[in-house]
Amino acid sequence: MKQGYRVKSAEILCVGTEILIGDIINTNAAYISTRLAEMGINQYHQEVVGDNPDRLRYYLKNALDRADCIIMSGGLGPTYDDLTKETVADLMGRELHMHERSLQRLESYFAGRKIKMTDNNRKQAMIPDGSVVFDNDCGTAPGMAVEDEERGKIVILLPGPPRELHPMMDNAVIPYLSQFTESVFFSRNINIFGMGESTVASIVDDIMQTSENPTVAPYAKDSEVRLRVTAKGSDKEACASLCDEMIERIRQTEVGACIYGVDTSLEEALVARLKEKGLKIAVAESCTGGMVSKTITDVRGSSAVFDGGVISYANEVKQQLLGVSAHTLETYGAVSEQTAMEMAEGVKKRMNADIGIALTGIAGPDGGSEEKPVGLVYIGVSGKAGTFAKELRIRNNGRDYIRVSATKNALHAAICEAERA
Ligand code: ATP
Repeated sequence: MKQGYRVKSAEILCVGTEILIGDIINTNAAYISTRLAEMGINQYHQEVVGDNPDRLRYYLKNALDRADCIIMSGGLGPTYDDLTKETVADLMGRELHMHERSLQRLESYFAGRKIKMTDNNRKQAMIPDGSVVFDNDCGTAPGMAVEDEERGKIVILLPGPPRELHPMMDNAVIPYLSQFTESVFFSRNINIFGMGESTVASIVDDIMQTSENPTVAPYAKDSEVRLRVTAKGSDKEACASLCDEMIERIRQTEVGACIYGVDTSLEEALVARLKEKGLKIAVAESCTGGMVSKTITDVRGSSAVFDGGVISYANEVKQQLLGVSAHTLETYGAVSEQTAMEMAEGVKKRMNADIGIALTGIAGPDGGSEEKPVGLVYIGVSGKAGTFAKELRIRNNGRDYIRVSATKNALHAAICEAERA
Protein backbone atom coordinates (compact mmCIF):
# COMPACT_ATOMS: atom_id res chain seq x y z
CA MET A 1 0.00 0.00 0.00
CA LYS A 2 1.10 3.60 -0.61
CA GLN A 3 3.58 5.14 1.82
CA GLY A 4 1.77 7.00 4.59
CA TYR A 5 -1.64 5.59 3.63
CA ARG A 6 -4.18 5.83 6.46
CA VAL A 7 -7.41 3.91 7.09
CA LYS A 8 -9.70 6.44 8.73
CA SER A 9 -13.06 4.95 7.83
CA ALA A 10 -14.39 1.46 7.22
CA GLU A 11 -17.67 -0.13 6.24
CA ILE A 12 -18.90 -3.63 6.99
CA LEU A 13 -20.64 -5.55 4.23
CA CYS A 14 -22.00 -8.92 5.32
CA VAL A 15 -23.00 -11.42 2.66
CA GLY A 16 -25.74 -13.99 3.20
CA THR A 17 -29.40 -14.42 2.34
CA GLU A 18 -29.78 -16.19 5.72
CA ILE A 19 -29.14 -12.85 7.46
CA LEU A 20 -31.67 -11.00 5.31
CA ILE A 21 -34.47 -13.46 6.02
CA GLY A 22 -33.75 -13.48 9.75
CA ASP A 23 -32.43 -17.05 9.92
CA ILE A 24 -29.24 -15.90 11.60
CA ILE A 25 -28.40 -12.79 13.59
CA ASN A 26 -25.62 -10.63 12.22
CA THR A 27 -23.23 -11.09 15.11
CA ASN A 28 -20.23 -10.73 12.78
CA ALA A 29 -21.08 -7.08 12.17
CA ALA A 30 -21.28 -6.46 15.92
CA TYR A 31 -17.95 -8.16 16.48
CA ILE A 32 -16.11 -6.37 13.68
CA SER A 33 -17.64 -3.00 14.70
CA THR A 34 -16.39 -3.32 18.26
CA ARG A 35 -12.89 -4.09 17.06
CA LEU A 36 -12.89 -1.19 14.58
CA ALA A 37 -14.13 1.23 17.23
CA GLU A 38 -11.31 0.10 19.53
CA MET A 39 -8.85 0.97 16.78
CA GLY A 40 -10.37 4.40 16.29
CA ILE A 41 -11.53 3.61 12.75
CA ASN A 42 -14.78 5.44 11.98
CA GLN A 43 -17.83 3.70 10.63
CA TYR A 44 -20.73 5.56 9.10
CA HIS A 45 -22.52 2.76 7.32
CA GLN A 46 -23.15 -1.01 7.42
CA GLU A 47 -24.83 -3.22 4.88
CA VAL A 48 -26.14 -6.77 4.41
CA VAL A 49 -26.55 -8.25 0.95
CA GLY A 50 -27.96 -11.61 -0.17
CA ASP A 51 -26.03 -14.23 -2.15
CA ASN A 52 -26.42 -12.42 -5.45
CA PRO A 53 -23.33 -11.28 -7.40
CA ASP A 54 -25.00 -8.31 -9.16
CA ARG A 55 -26.30 -6.80 -5.95
CA LEU A 56 -23.05 -7.58 -4.17
CA ARG A 57 -21.13 -5.75 -6.87
CA TYR A 58 -23.46 -2.78 -6.64
CA TYR A 59 -23.20 -2.49 -2.84
CA LEU A 60 -19.45 -2.98 -2.84
CA LYS A 61 -18.95 -0.35 -5.52
CA ASN A 62 -20.92 2.19 -3.49
CA ALA A 63 -19.10 1.28 -0.30
CA LEU A 64 -15.75 1.80 -2.03
CA ASP A 65 -16.82 5.31 -3.00
CA ARG A 66 -17.47 6.14 0.67
CA ALA A 67 -14.91 4.37 2.87
CA ASP A 68 -11.16 3.66 2.94
CA CYS A 69 -11.65 0.03 3.86
CA ILE A 70 -14.49 -2.44 3.36
CA ILE A 71 -14.65 -5.51 5.57
CA MET A 72 -16.80 -8.30 4.19
CA SER A 73 -17.92 -11.49 5.89
CA GLY A 74 -19.35 -14.67 4.36
CA GLY A 75 -19.54 -16.25 0.94
CA LEU A 76 -16.00 -17.66 0.94
CA GLY A 77 -17.13 -21.27 1.20
CA PRO A 78 -16.93 -23.94 -1.50
CA THR A 79 -20.56 -23.93 -2.69
CA TYR A 80 -22.10 -22.33 -5.76
CA ASP A 81 -23.62 -19.43 -3.82
CA ASP A 82 -20.27 -18.46 -2.30
CA LEU A 83 -19.36 -15.74 -4.79
CA THR A 84 -17.76 -13.00 -2.71
CA LYS A 85 -14.18 -13.56 -3.86
CA GLU A 86 -15.04 -13.76 -7.55
CA THR A 87 -17.14 -10.62 -7.41
CA VAL A 88 -14.49 -8.62 -5.53
CA ALA A 89 -11.75 -9.81 -7.92
CA ASP A 90 -13.83 -8.86 -10.93
CA LEU A 91 -14.73 -5.42 -9.57
CA MET A 92 -11.14 -4.68 -8.64
CA GLY A 93 -9.76 -5.96 -11.96
CA ARG A 94 -7.85 -8.93 -10.52
CA GLU A 95 -7.37 -12.49 -11.74
CA LEU A 96 -7.81 -15.36 -9.30
CA HIS A 97 -4.80 -17.65 -8.92
CA MET A 98 -4.07 -20.71 -6.85
CA HIS A 99 -2.36 -19.69 -3.64
CA GLU A 100 0.14 -22.43 -2.84
CA ARG A 101 0.33 -21.99 0.96
CA SER A 102 -3.47 -22.02 1.25
CA LEU A 103 -3.70 -25.09 -0.98
CA GLN A 104 -1.17 -26.95 1.16
CA ARG A 105 -3.05 -26.01 4.31
CA LEU A 106 -6.30 -27.25 2.77
CA GLU A 107 -4.69 -30.53 1.68
CA SER A 108 -3.30 -31.22 5.11
CA TYR A 109 -6.65 -30.18 6.71
CA PHE A 110 -8.52 -32.79 4.63
CA ALA A 111 -5.77 -35.44 4.91
CA GLY A 112 -5.76 -35.01 8.70
CA ARG A 113 -9.50 -35.75 8.77
CA LYS A 114 -9.25 -38.53 6.18
CA ILE A 115 -11.79 -36.73 3.96
CA LYS A 116 -11.46 -36.60 0.17
CA MET A 117 -10.79 -33.09 -1.05
CA THR A 118 -13.03 -32.02 -3.94
CA ASP A 119 -12.43 -29.42 -6.67
CA ASN A 120 -14.88 -27.18 -4.85
CA ASN A 121 -12.61 -27.24 -1.83
CA ARG A 122 -9.58 -26.37 -3.98
CA LYS A 123 -11.52 -23.31 -5.12
CA GLN A 124 -11.15 -21.91 -1.59
CA ALA A 125 -7.39 -21.56 -2.17
CA MET A 126 -7.93 -19.34 -5.25
CA ILE A 127 -6.93 -15.80 -4.29
CA PRO A 128 -7.07 -12.49 -6.22
CA ASP A 129 -3.57 -11.50 -7.41
CA GLY A 130 -1.53 -9.42 -5.01
CA SER A 131 -3.73 -10.07 -1.97
CA VAL A 132 -2.45 -10.32 1.58
CA VAL A 133 -3.64 -13.75 2.77
CA PHE A 134 -4.87 -14.46 6.33
CA ASP A 135 -4.56 -18.15 7.26
CA ASN A 136 -7.67 -19.76 8.69
CA ASP A 137 -6.67 -21.72 11.81
CA CYS A 138 -10.22 -22.79 12.57
CA GLY A 139 -11.67 -23.74 9.18
CA THR A 140 -10.95 -24.04 5.50
CA ALA A 141 -11.48 -20.68 3.75
CA PRO A 142 -8.52 -18.27 4.09
CA GLY A 143 -9.28 -14.58 4.52
CA MET A 144 -7.59 -11.87 2.47
CA ALA A 145 -7.01 -8.17 1.95
CA VAL A 146 -7.21 -6.90 -1.62
CA GLU A 147 -5.46 -3.55 -1.93
CA ASP A 148 -6.23 -1.00 -4.62
CA GLU A 149 -3.02 1.07 -4.62
CA GLU A 150 -4.31 3.55 -7.14
CA ARG A 151 -7.47 4.54 -5.29
CA GLY A 152 -6.00 3.90 -1.85
CA LYS A 153 -8.73 1.41 -0.88
CA ILE A 154 -8.65 -1.95 0.86
CA VAL A 155 -11.24 -4.73 0.69
CA ILE A 156 -10.93 -7.38 3.41
CA LEU A 157 -12.71 -10.70 2.98
CA LEU A 158 -13.43 -12.89 6.00
CA PRO A 159 -15.18 -16.26 6.36
CA GLY A 160 -18.79 -16.24 7.65
CA PRO A 161 -18.66 -18.66 10.60
CA PRO A 162 -18.01 -16.59 13.76
CA ARG A 163 -15.64 -19.20 15.24
CA GLU A 164 -13.42 -18.67 12.18
CA LEU A 165 -13.96 -14.93 11.83
CA HIS A 166 -13.26 -13.89 15.44
CA PRO A 167 -9.72 -15.31 15.69
CA MET A 168 -8.89 -14.13 12.18
CA MET A 169 -10.07 -10.63 13.04
CA ASP A 170 -8.09 -10.56 16.29
CA ASN A 171 -4.92 -12.30 15.19
CA ALA A 172 -4.53 -11.19 11.58
CA VAL A 173 -6.80 -8.31 10.56
CA ILE A 174 -6.15 -6.02 13.53
CA PRO A 175 -2.33 -6.30 13.23
CA TYR A 176 -2.68 -5.78 9.45
CA LEU A 177 -4.89 -2.69 9.84
CA SER A 178 -2.70 -1.21 12.60
CA GLN A 179 -0.10 -0.41 9.91
CA PHE A 180 -2.62 2.08 8.57
CA THR A 181 -3.79 3.75 11.78
CA GLU A 182 -2.09 6.43 13.83
CA SER A 183 -3.17 5.50 17.31
CA VAL A 184 -4.77 2.58 19.04
CA PHE A 185 -7.89 2.58 21.18
CA PHE A 186 -8.26 0.28 24.15
CA SER A 187 -11.26 -0.22 26.43
CA ARG A 188 -11.92 -1.80 29.78
CA ASN A 189 -15.35 -2.39 31.32
CA ILE A 190 -16.05 -1.73 34.99
CA ASN A 191 -18.81 -4.10 36.13
CA ILE A 192 -21.28 -2.74 38.63
CA PHE A 193 -24.18 -4.45 40.41
CA GLY A 194 -26.73 -3.08 42.83
CA MET A 195 -26.77 0.53 41.62
CA GLY A 196 -28.92 1.88 38.80
CA GLU A 197 -27.51 3.50 35.66
CA SER A 198 -28.73 6.99 36.50
CA THR A 199 -27.23 6.87 40.00
CA VAL A 200 -23.91 5.64 38.62
CA ALA A 201 -23.98 8.34 35.95
CA SER A 202 -24.75 11.08 38.45
CA ILE A 203 -21.88 10.02 40.72
CA VAL A 204 -19.29 9.89 37.93
CA ASP A 205 -20.82 12.78 35.98
CA ASP A 206 -17.91 15.11 36.71
CA ILE A 207 -15.38 12.54 35.59
CA MET A 208 -17.38 11.81 32.44
CA GLN A 209 -17.67 15.49 31.54
CA THR A 210 -14.07 16.45 32.18
CA SER A 211 -12.02 13.45 31.10
CA GLU A 212 -11.13 13.40 27.41
CA ASN A 213 -8.62 10.60 27.50
CA PRO A 214 -9.73 8.14 28.66
CA THR A 215 -13.42 8.68 28.06
CA VAL A 216 -16.00 7.09 30.37
CA ALA A 217 -19.46 6.00 29.24
CA PRO A 218 -22.20 4.11 31.12
CA TYR A 219 -24.22 1.19 29.70
CA ALA A 220 -27.07 -0.70 31.36
CA LYS A 221 -27.63 -4.34 30.53
CA ASP A 222 -29.75 -7.05 32.22
CA SER A 223 -29.88 -5.49 35.71
CA GLU A 224 -26.21 -4.55 35.55
CA VAL A 225 -24.39 -1.34 34.77
CA ARG A 226 -21.09 -1.09 32.97
CA LEU A 227 -18.77 1.85 32.74
CA ARG A 228 -16.72 1.57 29.58
CA VAL A 229 -13.36 3.31 29.91
CA THR A 230 -11.70 3.93 26.55
CA ALA A 231 -8.19 5.30 26.12
CA LYS A 232 -6.41 6.47 22.97
CA GLY A 233 -2.63 6.22 22.75
CA SER A 234 0.42 5.15 20.81
CA ASP A 235 0.23 1.52 21.95
CA LYS A 236 -1.94 -0.85 23.94
CA GLU A 237 0.24 -0.70 27.07
CA ALA A 238 0.03 3.10 27.28
CA CYS A 239 -3.75 2.91 26.86
CA ALA A 240 -4.09 0.14 29.45
CA SER A 241 -2.26 2.19 32.03
CA LEU A 242 -4.49 5.24 31.35
CA CYS A 243 -7.53 2.98 31.78
CA ASP A 244 -6.19 1.50 35.03
CA GLU A 245 -5.65 4.98 36.51
CA MET A 246 -9.22 5.92 35.66
CA ILE A 247 -10.61 2.66 37.09
CA GLU A 248 -8.78 3.39 40.34
CA ARG A 249 -10.26 6.90 40.39
CA ILE A 250 -13.78 5.52 39.94
CA ARG A 251 -13.20 2.94 42.67
CA GLN A 252 -12.61 5.83 45.06
CA THR A 253 -16.13 7.20 44.43
CA GLU A 254 -19.38 5.86 45.94
CA VAL A 255 -19.68 3.59 42.91
CA GLY A 256 -16.64 1.67 44.21
CA ALA A 257 -18.68 -0.33 46.72
CA CYS A 258 -20.83 -1.76 43.90
CA ILE A 259 -17.96 -2.72 41.55
CA TYR A 260 -17.67 -6.49 41.45
CA GLY A 261 -15.06 -6.72 38.74
CA VAL A 262 -13.41 -5.37 35.62
CA ASP A 263 -13.85 -7.11 32.25
CA THR A 264 -15.66 -10.01 33.85
CA SER A 265 -19.15 -11.42 34.33
CA LEU A 266 -20.90 -12.10 37.64
CA GLU A 267 -20.39 -15.83 37.26
CA GLU A 268 -16.71 -15.48 36.38
CA ALA A 269 -16.17 -13.15 39.31
CA LEU A 270 -17.97 -15.60 41.62
CA VAL A 271 -15.94 -18.63 40.52
CA ALA A 272 -12.71 -16.61 40.85
CA ARG A 273 -13.59 -15.42 44.40
CA LEU A 274 -14.56 -18.93 45.52
CA LYS A 275 -11.30 -20.32 44.11
CA GLU A 276 -9.23 -17.63 45.83
CA LYS A 277 -10.84 -18.50 49.14
CA GLY A 278 -10.96 -22.26 48.61
CA LEU A 279 -14.75 -22.36 49.06
CA LYS A 280 -17.47 -24.54 47.55
CA ILE A 281 -20.96 -23.40 46.70
CA ALA A 282 -24.25 -25.27 46.31
CA VAL A 283 -27.48 -23.92 44.85
CA ALA A 284 -31.15 -24.77 45.48
CA GLU A 285 -33.49 -23.32 42.86
CA SER A 286 -37.21 -23.05 42.57
CA CYS A 287 -38.33 -20.20 40.29
CA THR A 288 -35.09 -20.19 38.24
CA GLY A 289 -35.31 -23.93 37.53
CA GLY A 290 -31.55 -24.48 37.32
CA MET A 291 -30.52 -21.20 35.69
CA VAL A 292 -28.11 -20.24 38.48
CA SER A 293 -26.38 -23.63 38.40
CA LYS A 294 -26.23 -23.52 34.63
CA THR A 295 -24.71 -20.04 34.69
CA ILE A 296 -22.06 -21.04 37.22
CA THR A 297 -21.15 -24.11 35.20
CA ASP A 298 -20.83 -21.98 32.05
CA VAL A 299 -17.51 -20.88 33.56
CA ARG A 300 -14.52 -23.05 32.70
CA GLY A 301 -13.04 -24.66 35.79
CA SER A 302 -16.21 -24.21 37.86
CA SER A 303 -15.99 -27.85 38.99
CA ALA A 304 -13.38 -26.72 41.53
CA VAL A 305 -16.04 -24.72 43.39
CA PHE A 306 -19.38 -26.31 42.47
CA ASP A 307 -20.32 -29.93 43.17
CA GLY A 308 -24.03 -29.68 42.45
CA GLY A 309 -27.41 -28.30 43.32
CA VAL A 310 -31.08 -29.12 43.62
CA ILE A 311 -33.98 -27.96 41.47
CA SER A 312 -36.78 -27.98 43.99
CA TYR A 313 -39.81 -26.76 42.11
CA ALA A 314 -42.39 -28.71 44.08
CA ASN A 315 -42.90 -28.42 47.83
CA GLU A 316 -42.30 -32.17 48.26
CA VAL A 317 -38.82 -31.79 46.76
CA LYS A 318 -38.11 -28.84 49.02
CA GLN A 319 -39.06 -31.03 51.97
CA GLN A 320 -37.53 -34.35 50.90
CA LEU A 321 -34.25 -33.19 49.38
CA LEU A 322 -33.62 -29.99 51.28
CA GLY A 323 -35.30 -30.63 54.62
CA VAL A 324 -37.62 -27.60 54.48
CA SER A 325 -40.17 -28.17 57.25
CA ALA A 326 -43.88 -28.69 56.57
CA HIS A 327 -44.56 -26.11 59.26
CA THR A 328 -42.53 -23.45 57.39
CA LEU A 329 -44.27 -24.18 54.10
CA GLU A 330 -47.72 -24.12 55.69
CA THR A 331 -47.15 -21.07 57.86
CA TYR A 332 -45.16 -18.82 55.55
CA GLY A 333 -45.62 -20.38 52.09
CA ALA A 334 -43.10 -21.62 49.51
CA VAL A 335 -42.27 -18.05 48.49
CA SER A 336 -41.03 -16.68 51.77
CA GLU A 337 -37.92 -15.60 53.59
CA GLN A 338 -38.17 -18.61 55.91
CA THR A 339 -38.40 -21.15 53.08
CA ALA A 340 -35.48 -19.49 51.21
CA MET A 341 -33.34 -19.74 54.35
CA GLU A 342 -34.19 -23.39 54.97
CA MET A 343 -33.54 -24.22 51.32
CA ALA A 344 -30.12 -22.54 51.51
CA GLU A 345 -29.20 -24.35 54.71
CA GLY A 346 -30.52 -27.63 53.33
CA VAL A 347 -28.56 -27.52 50.09
CA LYS A 348 -25.39 -26.42 51.86
CA LYS A 349 -25.64 -29.41 54.20
CA ARG A 350 -26.71 -31.89 51.53
CA MET A 351 -23.83 -30.91 49.18
CA ASN A 352 -21.34 -30.46 52.00
CA ALA A 353 -20.60 -26.95 50.72
CA ASP A 354 -19.34 -23.78 52.43
CA ILE A 355 -22.02 -21.54 50.94
CA GLY A 356 -25.62 -22.45 50.14
CA ILE A 357 -27.67 -20.17 47.90
CA ALA A 358 -31.41 -20.61 47.36
CA LEU A 359 -34.06 -18.94 45.22
CA THR A 360 -37.81 -19.07 45.58
CA GLY A 361 -40.18 -16.64 43.92
CA ILE A 362 -43.01 -15.91 41.53
CA ALA A 363 -41.81 -15.60 37.93
CA GLY A 364 -45.32 -15.27 36.48
CA PRO A 365 -47.12 -14.57 34.29
CA ASP A 366 -49.68 -16.55 36.34
CA GLY A 367 -49.87 -16.72 40.09
CA GLY A 368 -49.12 -13.88 42.42
CA SER A 369 -51.39 -11.94 44.72
CA GLU A 370 -51.51 -8.49 46.18
CA GLU A 371 -49.39 -9.62 49.08
CA LYS A 372 -47.05 -11.76 46.96
CA PRO A 373 -46.99 -10.27 43.45
CA VAL A 374 -45.27 -11.58 40.33
CA GLY A 375 -41.60 -10.59 40.63
CA LEU A 376 -41.35 -11.27 44.35
CA VAL A 377 -38.24 -13.41 44.88
CA TYR A 378 -36.39 -14.43 48.04
CA ILE A 379 -32.71 -15.27 47.94
CA GLY A 380 -31.47 -17.38 50.83
CA VAL A 381 -27.80 -17.25 51.72
CA SER A 382 -26.24 -19.67 54.15
CA GLY A 383 -22.57 -19.20 54.97
CA LYS A 384 -20.10 -19.69 57.76
CA ALA A 385 -21.51 -16.84 59.84
CA GLY A 386 -25.16 -17.86 59.59
CA THR A 387 -28.18 -17.73 57.30
CA PHE A 388 -30.26 -14.86 56.03
CA ALA A 389 -32.64 -14.06 53.18
CA LYS A 390 -33.01 -11.06 50.91
CA GLU A 391 -36.31 -9.95 49.46
CA LEU A 392 -36.36 -8.74 45.83
CA ARG A 393 -39.25 -7.05 44.14
CA ILE A 394 -38.30 -7.40 40.50
CA ARG A 395 -40.15 -5.30 37.94
CA ASN A 396 -42.70 -7.46 36.10
CA ASN A 397 -41.10 -7.24 32.67
CA GLY A 398 -41.99 -10.85 31.90
CA ARG A 399 -40.98 -14.28 33.07
CA ASP A 400 -37.56 -14.30 31.37
CA TYR A 401 -36.62 -10.92 32.77
CA ILE A 402 -37.60 -11.93 36.30
CA ARG A 403 -35.67 -15.20 36.13
CA VAL A 404 -32.54 -13.58 34.67
CA SER A 405 -32.68 -10.79 37.22
CA ALA A 406 -33.15 -13.27 40.09
CA THR A 407 -30.19 -15.28 38.79
CA LYS A 408 -27.95 -12.21 38.67
CA ASN A 409 -28.99 -11.18 42.16
CA ALA A 410 -28.24 -14.67 43.47
CA LEU A 411 -24.78 -14.66 41.85
CA HIS A 412 -24.09 -11.26 43.34
CA ALA A 413 -25.29 -12.36 46.80
CA ALA A 414 -22.93 -15.32 46.52
CA ILE A 415 -19.99 -13.04 45.59
CA CYS A 416 -20.69 -10.90 48.68
CA GLU A 417 -20.89 -13.99 50.88
CA ALA A 418 -17.61 -15.33 49.46
CA GLU A 419 -15.97 -11.98 50.22
CA ARG A 420 -17.23 -12.08 53.80
CA ALA A 421 -16.07 -15.67 54.35
P1 ATP B 1 -18.48 -21.72 4.77
O1 ATP B 1 -17.08 -22.12 4.42
O2 ATP B 1 -18.96 -22.38 6.05
O3 ATP B 1 -19.46 -21.84 3.61
P2 ATP B 1 -18.61 -18.87 4.27
O4 ATP B 1 -17.45 -17.96 4.43
O5 ATP B 1 -19.04 -19.18 2.87
O6 ATP B 1 -18.34 -20.16 5.12
P3 ATP B 1 -21.34 -18.38 4.77
O7 ATP B 1 -21.63 -19.62 3.96
O8 ATP B 1 -21.81 -17.10 4.26
O9 ATP B 1 -19.80 -18.26 5.05
O10 ATP B 1 -21.84 -18.60 6.24
C1 ATP B 1 -21.53 -19.79 6.95
C2 ATP B 1 -22.20 -19.74 8.31
O11 ATP B 1 -21.57 -18.72 9.09
C3 ATP B 1 -23.66 -19.33 8.29
O12 ATP B 1 -24.52 -20.43 8.08
C4 ATP B 1 -23.84 -18.73 9.65
O13 ATP B 1 -24.04 -19.75 10.60
C5 ATP B 1 -22.51 -18.07 9.90
N1 ATP B 1 -22.55 -16.65 9.52
C6 ATP B 1 -22.39 -16.15 8.27
N2 ATP B 1 -22.49 -14.80 8.27
C7 ATP B 1 -22.71 -14.45 9.55
C8 ATP B 1 -22.90 -13.20 10.20
N3 ATP B 1 -22.86 -12.05 9.54
N4 ATP B 1 -23.12 -13.20 11.55
C9 ATP B 1 -23.16 -14.37 12.23
N5 ATP B 1 -22.97 -15.58 11.67
C10 ATP B 1 -22.76 -15.63 10.35
